[in-house]
Amino acid sequence: MERTNTRKITVGGVQIGGQNKVVIQSMTNTKTKDVEATVKQIKTLEKVGCEIIRVAILDIEDARAVKEIKKQISIPLVSDIHFNPDFAIEAIKAGTDKIRLNPGNIEDENKIKEIVELCKERQIPIRIGINAGSLNKKYKHSEEAMIESAKDHLRILEALDFHDICLSFKSSDPLECIKAYRLASETFPYPLHLGVTEAGGLINSAIKSSVALGNLLLDGIGDTIRISISDDPVEEVKIAKKLLRACKLKLDVPNLISCPTCGRIQYDMLPIVKEMEEYLESVNKNVTVAIMGCPVNGPQEASRADIGVAGAKDSAILFKKGQIVKTIAQDEIVSTLKEEIDKFEGATE
Ligand code: SF4
Repeated sequence: MERTNTRKITVGGVQIGGQNKVVIQSMTNTKTKDVEATVKQIKTLEKVGCEIIRVAILDIEDARAVKEIKKQISIPLVSDIHFNPDFAIEAIKAGTDKIRLNPGNIEDENKIKEIVELCKERQIPIRIGINAGSLNKKYKHSEEAMIESAKDHLRILEALDFHDICLSFKSSDPLECIKAYRLASETFPYPLHLGVTEAGGLINSAIKSSVALGNLLLDGIGDTIRISISDDPVEEVKIAKKLLRACKLKLDVPNLISCPTCGRIQYDMLPIVKEMEEYLESVNKNVTVAIMGCPVNGPQEASRADIGVAGAKDSAILFKKGQIVKTIAQDEIVSTLKEEIDKFEGATE
């Protein structure tokens, strides 16, 4: 699937826009000035697949902490600043790879010029983040107003000949997000950072984000995504990976197929699905694994799976691409699947 052709920006060596790859982002929820806790969380997020991390800069100490955090992590870091230009200047000097800042919220023009000059010098992009809930009072709430608001901020940067820009148009309403981002992709050449904001807990956010981001991504819109969840940010990254996998935009993520179970079930399948889901979290392969309850429909229903098991009477059958390979004991299901997944090299797609 071709992405909308957006201008390319580079964030600490990671490209956003101008390519088919969609970059996964997350945000820490530690106090940024608590370097140890922040680094620990970033490393955990990096391990599960986060490609760019954002930290909140609430004061000058947070901005200064960027320097030490950067030394200890290996993914690019974005500093999120609201209103205070001095925090932005400090974060840039401390080595941030990108800033999130709305220039229209800064009154001192000289400070904006200073930020832009520093960003130009160090090739640091700026994300302008429009949130439906915090539009300038001169606008009535609408998707069109979100676009106009972005134009207000953009005019300031473009007048200073700055174009190293990324844009976001977040709302807590997935349908509003879809409309705003569609308008944005027709209006601006800049890469788009997709997200539903204040999306709720795990299930709520997974659904809202999949509706909004799924629709947009399948239309080729969106260059980087952040799933926002009121939960551990690790879950954000896991959902982002699965969403990109479902849209076939990221293939080095396993795909688990499992039946919903019914009266034909031949074994205690659900704990096995749970254990295998956890195991697959750390596998970076394009492998489709099926876990089916019975042999009646199992292998055929999961014929596209690379590796699969179906419960049988007092045993289980192992199949590959719909073909039965052998019979195994039910207590060997997990170990056999793990072994086959580890050995698997080919890809189905
Ligand atoms: S695979 Fe078997 S147990 Fe699972 S839903 Fe289908 S018929 Fe039921």
